[in-house]
Amino acid sequence: MFIDGEWVSARSGETNSVVNPATSEIIAKVPKGGVEDAKRAVDAARDAFDKGRWPRMSPPERASIIYKLADLIEQNIDQLALLETLQQGKTLKLSRDSDFPFAVDNIRFFAGAARCLEGRASAEYNGVATSIIRREPVGVVAAITPWNYPFLMLAWKAVPPLAVGNTVVIKPASVTPLTTLEFAKLTDKAGIPKGVVNVLTGPGATIGETLVTHPGVDLVGLTGDTLTGRRIMELASASVKKVQLELGGKAPYVVFDDANLEAAAEGSMYGFVNAGQDCTAVTRLYVQEGVYEKFLTMVVERIRKIKLGDPKSRETDMGPLVSQAQRLKVEEMVASGLKEGAKLLIGGKRPTMPSPLNKGFCYEPTLFSDAKQNMRIVQQEIFGPVLTAAPFKTVDEAIEKSNDVIYGLSSSVWTKDIFKAMKVAGALRFGCVWVNEHGPLVSEMPHGGYKQSGFGKDLSMYTFDDYTEIKHVYIDLMNENRKPWHYQLYGPQ
Ligand code: NDP
Repeated sequence: MFIDGEWVSARSGETNSVVNPATSEIIAKVPKGGVEDAKRAVDAARDAFDKGRWPRMSPPERASIIYKLADLIEQNIDQLALLETLQQGKTLKLSRDSDFPFAVDNIRFFAGAARCLEGRASAEYNGVATSIIRREPVGVVAAITPWNYPFLMLAWKAVPPLAVGNTVVIKPASVTPLTTLEFAKLTDKAGIPKGVVNVLTGPGATIGETLVTHPGVDLVGLTGDTLTGRRIMELASASVKKVQLELGGKAPYVVFDDANLEAAAEGSMYGFVNAGQDCTAVTRLYVQEGVYEKFLTMVVERIRKIKLGDPKSRETDMGPLVSQAQRLKVEEMVASGLKEGAKLLIGGKRPTMPSPLNKGFCYEPTLFSDAKQNMRIVQQEIFGPVLTAAPFKTVDEAIEKSNDVIYGLSSSVWTKDIFKAMKVAGALRFGCVWVNEHGPLVSEMPHGGYKQSGFGKDLSMYTFDDYTEIKHVYIDLMNENRKPWHYQLYGPQ
């Protein structure tokens, strides 16, 4: 682990194994940090914030170090992407060509954007004083990251707070800690002072909760499960700690009968990117009744073309799920769909794979039709390669069904009619609505949820609202002993 600029083992000496989900081989052992390790990391981050140079550096100086960090990531992109693929199971196509280049772009954006924080203009609002706004870092930020996009989420959760002068304690998911440890090495190389970035490995239930309850932590950022988000809010309430939460999703994909069906069928494959372990993934197809059967046939045709295999091969389209536990969760959900009467059109089982991939955690891309709105597969996050489909008649019905889940992260609508598209985009209670597309994000635009998908924003200038305090400084211009309001206490002058 990386604490206060040093590489350390867990105090207990215990370790956790990291498994390659494509083969179930152990590829590394990392420290299994405990409560004492977490406290040490918070102390280091606290000290670096309270007394260190990082929060006091000029914005251009901090930005230049973060640009250097982005350059180092870019220079090591091949090794980092391969490591991500080995620990997570995502295809090299995804990690090398998408996750890492996007993370580099995000980091460069954060470095520059942190120099342009906004607030109200300073002015003499009451005529006798100048009021100014200061944006200040919140302090020590605990960044708790998930296993689906380990490095990309690290970039979103740790770099914006750093860019505005916070110090961080990062806790990666237990199954995917390796690229976060590499990130720590690169922050050191880039010149980020010791104690500013700390990385702890170990269970969320112990070190994660220590971070959330520790009085030395000012804000907890999480990307993860809605259940984890609820638990963190509950624990954080004792110290009124700020939280920033990006939680689950259950994206609707609304296809009208006037849509470009070819484009919509291609776009629906975003449900299988990263083996469906993506909070923005397409999950619920709602297709207008006139084109329902035809559209599902087109989707099935495309699913048949998805090549499962070794994620390190450029020929592979979909790798394994991240762990046996995640595959069991997906299997349980599929079983529940079948029990509740949904119709399996394709998939729904483990594929036959050659050795050693037969020991990995692959699952076939799966599509259910006749999925009723009250079924668990429609209401709950599956986080695997499983889509559901149901027909709808009217615009209002499509909107109602789309909104009828506890989640509100992302959604899409497919139509050539701009009026229909705008009506649906306005009515969907989701943090993102794509029109005739599903998936792409840009550094300049916010990403975050409505409802139980959480609150706060990743990406864009809006993310800095989460990681800065807004302070009003009131500067007296009268330079007089008696001010107009003093008469309230001791009479007129
Ligand atoms: P979690 O929410 O448990 O994991 C996310 C992070 O939170 C990990 O670093 C984890 O650590 C940590 N964590 C877990 N429990 C606590 C706690 N009590 N206090 C502080 N930190 C904690 O997700 P799971 O790995 O359990 O995945 C379960 C489901 O969550 C998935 O099937 C999926 O539905 C959803 N999920 C959604 C994600 C998203 O992007 N929105 C990302 C990941 C999962 P550790 O790994 O050590 O447990």
